[in-house]
Amino acid sequence: MAFLTRPPRQTSRSSERQARRRLGQHFLVDREVAARIVAAAELDDRPPVLEIGAGLGALTDLLREATDHLYLVEIDPGLVNVLLARYQADPAVVIIEGDVLRVDLPQLSGEASVYVVGNLPYSVASQILLRLVELRWWCPGAVVMLQEEVARRVAAKPGGHDYGVLTLLIQIYADVTWCFHVSRRSFSPMPRVESAVIRLHLHATPRVPMADLTLFQHLVRSLFQHRRKMIRNTLGGFLATVDVGAAEAGAVLHEAGIDASVRPEQVSLEEFAALTAAVLGRRPRQHEVAGSRRSRSRSPR
Ligand code: SAM
Repeated sequence: MAFLTRPPRQTSRSSERQARRRLGQHFLVDREVAARIVAAAELDDRPPVLEIGAGLGALTDLLREATDHLYLVEIDPGLVNVLLARYQADPAVVIIEGDVLRVDLPQLSGEASVYVVGNLPYSVASQILLRLVELRWWCPGAVVMLQEEVARRVAAKPGGHDYGVLTLLIQIYADVTWCFHVSRRSFSPMPRVESAVIRLHLHATPRVPMADLTLFQHLVRSLFQHRRKMIRNTLGGFLATVDVGAAEAGAVLHEAGIDASVRPEQVSLEEFAALTAAVLGRRPRQHEVAGSRRSRSRSPR
């Protein structure tokens, strides 16, 4: 066992309770669910594994059976002490104390790649998934449990109210598979919401041809602010923000092959990619925009 970032220390019971509330800790107590989560990860090749939010170790022993390089990241010092006591003698386990959103996991682990498994802290589950997308060069796959409502949004298909910005920002790089639902009775303390397990297969490059990722993200965020409005009524406003005339909305949609009367929640990833390319094709190049602004500012009136 190795320990990264600090030596063990004692914490008081009251600080542990406070941290538990703040971090929304709900520990898995159903062994069958734990076994199904690890089975869903399909770790047959015994890859290095990173467990996010190891907590009291509900998944950890099962993961240790499936790998000889196990990294546990946990933010709560009290729980880190529990993990230290349990895995002190095991040279294959490395405990990393810290915030998964902040620590440099590739650098700390020294691994070329890891498979991620975790029962995620629900309050930051979306952020953790977006962080995994950023780390896709290092993390080719993940099986995670999270709040069912968020899992539905991540795995959504076009056409329903679950489909939205989170869906597209993750699915641009990931194939998402729904694994199974988990009852809130499987946890202690019992959360108010149901849970679900999903699997992400992450690609290093976008799953569809993408002309400009930043423009795509900007476009998606903007259009989903009016998810129930027809796209021809909202695209113009977005176009004006990127120096394309609002009046070009119809032509841009036509070029992207998108029916002007659909709503954003009906537009597929491939169509959003085509829309991004069509918008990009009509954007003035940056020096032209700068030039026209400069000439306006020099105008006598
Ligand atoms: N894996 C354990 C289980 O299945 O019972 C615990 C899961 S519990 C839902 C989430 C765990 O993530 C907690 O142990 C919590 O302390 C930890 N955690 C919360 N926020 C974290 C963060 N930002 N970085 C790392 N761990 C975090």
